[in-house]
Amino acid sequence: MRLREQVALVTGAASGIGRQIARTFAREGARVAVADLDRGGAEEVAAALCAEGRQAIPVIMDVTDEAQVQTGIARVLDTFGRMDILVSNAGIQWVCPLEALSLQDWRRVLAVHLDGAFLTTRAALQQMYRQGGGSILYMGSVHSKEASRLKAPYVTAKHGLLGLARTVAKEGAPHGVRANVICPGFVRTPLVERQIPEQARALGISAEAVVREVMLRETVDGEFTTMEEVAEAAVFLASFESRALTGQSLVVSHGWFMQ
Ligand code: NAD
Repeated sequence: MRLREQVALVTGAASGIGRQIARTFAREGARVAVADLDRGGAEEVAAALCAEGRQAIPVIMDVTDEAQVQTGIARVLDTFGRMDILVSNAGIQWVCPLEALSLQDWRRVLAVHLDGAFLTTRAALQQMYRQGGGSILYMGSVHSKEASRLKAPYVTAKHGLLGLARTVAKEGAPHGVRANVICPGFVRTPLVERQIPEQARALGISAEAVVREVMLRETVDGEFTTMEEVAEAAVFLASFESRALTGQSLVVSHGWFMQ
């Protein structure tokens, strides 16, 4: 078990990639805080892990709300006494051409990705500095490196996470804190299922064409990235033994983006 006795907080863990990371971390021996604004979903994920004999708690928080993040992280510390890993994963998508994008929608997407990453990072660092170390993972995307049409606030936010991770890597190093970004290609989660018909409408093509021509065309094998593949990258980065691996971004995309 690669994360034995580690305490991990995973945001957006009621669904999709975050849920899979929570499961994989728990199976690797971590005690997991399943954080989400979806109360029912977070409770269900944590209960299922406990039923398998793992240690998990639901933590209900909107990552854009400063007070809820503080309270949520205090609950993790009350329950488990420490925090070794933060996975800042909660995210939303909004498909809209720039000329029609409202300021409200722009701000909403940036807030979940960037305010959420900042607020959870700040609270995690305060604890990690007290305990002398930790590992922070941000859920970036190939859209941290590449742009796509119709996704301006998402692409902007995902690029921004690279800057945050690199800054945390520098400020955190003297305290034993590492920070890295995972950059998945398209993964078939509810976030992606919702955007297939939205993109089809916006681009005037079929849903099949969105999958084939927009989402998977540049991959080496025409395959979606799986939640398990992203979770495996998260375990690798979180459990890496030395401080050499920090300030980096790891692309897991079936070759869609190569660097
Ligand atoms: P998802 O919709 O399945 O899950 C997202 C979760 O985040 C949901 O449980 C939702 O309730 C939660 N959430 C949303 N806003 C929140 C908030 N303000 N506070 C707390 N929780 C909130 O999506 P997913 O595909 O699993 O996405 C997870 C992360 O992976 C996101 O950051 C996304 O940008 C990123 N990502 C996804 C893909 C993909 O293809 N699915 C690719 C690259 C990166």
